[in-house]
Amino acid sequence: MSIYVHIPFCHSKCAYCGFYSVAGTSMRQEWLKALCCEIVTRKTEMGEESIHQTIYFGGGTPSMLSPQEWNTILNTIEENYNIAPDAERTLEANPEDITPTNATLWRTLGFNRLSIGVQSLNDNALKASKRRHSAHEARRAIETALKAGFTNIGIDFIIGLPESEASDINLAEQLLKELPITHLSLYILSIDEGSILYKKTENGTFTPPSDDAEADMYKEYCQMIKAQGFEHYEISNFAKPGYRSRHNSAYWEQKPYLGFGPAAHSYNGSDMRKWNIANIKKYCEAWLNSEASSTTGYEMEILGKPDRYNELIMTRLRTSDGIPMSLLHSQSFIEYWETNRRALQKYLDMGVARIENDKLLLTEEGWLISDAIFTDLFC
Ligand code: SF4
Repeated sequence: MSIYVHIPFCHSKCAYCGFYSVAGTSMRQEWLKALCCEIVTRKTEMGEESIHQTIYFGGGTPSMLSPQEWNTILNTIEENYNIAPDAERTLEANPEDITPTNATLWRTLGFNRLSIGVQSLNDNALKASKRRHSAHEARRAIETALKAGFTNIGIDFIIGLPESEASDINLAEQLLKELPITHLSLYILSIDEGSILYKKTENGTFTPPSDDAEADMYKEYCQMIKAQGFEHYEISNFAKPGYRSRHNSAYWEQKPYLGFGPAAHSYNGSDMRKWNIANIKKYCEAWLNSEASSTTGYEMEILGKPDRYNELIMTRLRTSDGIPMSLLHSQSFIEYWETNRRALQKYLDMGVARIENDKLLLTEEGWLISDAIFTDLFC
């Protein structure tokens, strides 16, 4: 069982960003009240005795919260939920917020994992993406986090950003050689509707790299990152031994989680997903008016067996652990697997999928065409 808290504020909006967040600090007080109300109200939803193994603050920009806001939120969680003593407690942070004071505060608050949005080490790409830090500042931020006592530090990179260059990979390699980073997420640029890059792509002022160019970059980065001692354990994620993200792994293993805050998603681990409204004002109105919260605060979906089979394919095949054949042959899924398994032969013949130790797995080449594979295997 896991807890996710979505912090919907950012200092400003990055050019590629399609996440729900707003720039600025308006409605912070109402949001804090509504968030705490939601946290308290939902405490019995997945059983009051549940023990949470991971807590993850994402966004948005959680690193911009004040000490008072942290105390209020964390106290509310601790008072209402059972958190395992060895829980993984992750905070997403932007380099510009990682000062010695903040990093020490986060350690004091119990965070034991930091996920830093580096995105690129090319200053032109950072500027074109409207990031608020330089490559040098990103490096300094990692060093500051290390000095404050963080030993589990993940960084994010995006390939294909405007103004990025083929040689950027050398800067990334240098960083991984010099600093004890334990986790790396590597994303291929996606042009999300509503983002600044979406508008630029529409009006022709930005042309994203071709699929082939992105695939070549992805493969080159994968080789380089693995050569630095990282295991490629999910399409976009790499970890040093023992440092896989426990929180994200819980998503891919379809374990239950509670998501708090505007736009946060929750899953009961079997047949129900729900997601909060992606609008701070409406979120606050809903949770500050308890009568409204059950009807206007979130939407939900009941998953039938075919949906759950499709989710199994989509989430487990993203990981290097793949899908145990015993799950595909289980009573719940055998009917859908029998109907769709013929589509797999083509991918086994191409060498992009394999069955090994009684598990169905995709290779890195397979992950690059995973959308097509998933679609063929879906019922
Ligand atoms: S990428 Fe992160 S920091 Fe930038 S706007 Fe999106 S959520 Fe905020």
